[in-house]
Amino acid sequence: MERPTLISKAAATLPVAPNWTRYEQERQSFTWEAARQALQGLPGGGLNMGFEAVDRHAATPRADKTALRFVSRNAPALDVSYAELARQTNRFANVLQGLGVGRGDRLFVLSGRMPELYVAVLGALKNGTVVTPLFSAFGPEPIAARINLGEGQVLVTTDVLYQRKIKAMRAQMPTLRHVLLVAEEGASIYEPDTLDLATLMRGASDKFTSVATQPEDPALLHFTSGTTGTPKGALHVHGAVVAHHATGRYALDLQEHDRYWCTADPGWVTGMSYGILAPLLQGVTSLVDREEFDAERWYSLLEAERITVWYTAPTAIRMLMKAGTELARQHHFPDLRFVASVGEPLNPQAVWWGLETLGLPIHDNWWQTETGGIMIANTAAFDIKPGSMGRPLPGVEAFIVEHLEAVGEAPRVRVIDQPDVEGELALKAGWPSMFRGYLHNEARYRQCFAGELYLTGDLARRDADGYYWFVGRSDDVIKSAGHLIGPFEVESVLMEHPAVAEAGVIGKPDPIVGEVVKAFVSLKDGYVPEAALRQDILAHARKRLGAAVAPKEIAFLPVLPRTRSGKIMRRLLKARELGLPEGDTSTLEAGA
Ligand code: AMP
Repeated sequence: MERPTLISKAAATLPVAPNWTRYEQERQSFTWEAARQALQGLPGGGLNMGFEAVDRHAATPRADKTALRFVSRNAPALDVSYAELARQTNRFANVLQGLGVGRGDRLFVLSGRMPELYVAVLGALKNGTVVTPLFSAFGPEPIAARINLGEGQVLVTTDVLYQRKIKAMRAQMPTLRHVLLVAEEGASIYEPDTLDLATLMRGASDKFTSVATQPEDPALLHFTSGTTGTPKGALHVHGAVVAHHATGRYALDLQEHDRYWCTADPGWVTGMSYGILAPLLQGVTSLVDREEFDAERWYSLLEAERITVWYTAPTAIRMLMKAGTELARQHHFPDLRFVASVGEPLNPQAVWWGLETLGLPIHDNWWQTETGGIMIANTAAFDIKPGSMGRPLPGVEAFIVEHLEAVGEAPRVRVIDQPDVEGELALKAGWPSMFRGYLHNEARYRQCFAGELYLTGDLARRDADGYYWFVGRSDDVIKSAGHLIGPFEVESVLMEHPAVAEAGVIGKPDPIVGEVVKAFVSLKDGYVPEAALRQDILAHARKRLGAAVAPKEIAFLPVLPRTRSGKIMRRLLKARELGLPEGDTSTLEAGA
């Protein structure tokens, strides 16, 4: 059946009046200075993310409201009020102070979605300590690489993850001064060279005054993947909190009485900006499910927890679609009023599936680690064009640009004014959650800007109505289940296997997770390409990189295509894998 190209909101009776209804007027009257006034700020012009998210509410009638509700399979639900969260985060900030960890020092968190993670993140922010989340499905290699690049001084993790992923690598993380352990089973822990977080928390005061950080002080360091080299540490400042607050209102339509569920893991930027910060900034009640994806569980949670606003991802939606409509029909979602998705292209079928199955269309939105917050979105009051990422939010100026020949180092671009022309998506610099640098890589940061335009690395087009459509990435980075994976990081680990001579890694399209990591390897002399060796290399990669990053498939090739300057041509590997035209191969090394 041919479906319309627009889901019109004009006729819809929305159960709750949306936060904004006049697109152009709101964009014209909006200023980031005014948006900042909606927050409290600290005496002397200070601004602190942790204070705004937690303490600001603790002196209001919201104090006793549930801020975070933790659910899991095997334990009763745990409700943490804003006042209790303020006390807990105060204790954690005091624990850091007691260890001599202060403003500008770096703390890493590696755990599942447990209360201690949220307390550590918010307490560290109140203490002015810079926070980096790590995905708990990373293997030892990506973890150590990030802690070393970020010069982490403190790590908060669990006893189980410590045993599995840190202990053996500890000596190779020279900056790490303190490891604070949470017992996964609740028992107290003894591990040499670590501290028991529960003991420290018991001994710490629950009174603390947030450190008077300034808007430009660093707050968060998020690692993201590039095509070459090590992961990039994107640095965000406390002032980003203004964007987390404003976009929670504009893009997610969060309102006082919402029960909100963001399914993203805090190990990634969505889980931080919209799983931890934005809902707390809006003073809503936020659900945290400690379990992994399970279609039946998710439908049950949406229903039983009476979720009103749900922020999820295309991979999850496609997995729900795969689980079939029968399962969905066993549940009812009368409270659900707004559903949004981010991280990968959302196919129009998924938008329609939402309407047919949940009773609501899914609102795609776009942003990336570097932007720190949602930039382009389909929002509650406005028509959706299924397949489009929506329109720029207030405070965001988006452009489609084409590259001109560079003069010197800096990129040069031309803005394309006509609609429906493909080009690179660019944003006018100046929104508060824009990253302020790649750690120790000023040159790479400068490459992201052409004058006042930030170049996103994504290809897109804008239609005549101002809606943006994602076309693809302009680089070789892989998006699998919503997670960015740098091919170089995977190739480097593959190359450590004694049999591997060279490795090239691509994203192979997959109907559920978007792309799966596929590796091509050539073998050193004396090794035979056979199934047992393939298994051995896969196991090596999984052990070092973790299941989230390791290749799912490995193919042997006698030799990999390289440019004459020696770079592996991943583009060509991909074209050959997909049976697509090989494009320009003039730089291809002879014989490949
Ligand atoms: P990350 O920095 O890990 O959040 O990944 C950001 C990248 O994910 C973007 O640069 C896009 O390539 C992709 N992405 C994010 N949201 C969308 C979306 N709504 N549609 C298509 N791609 C998206």
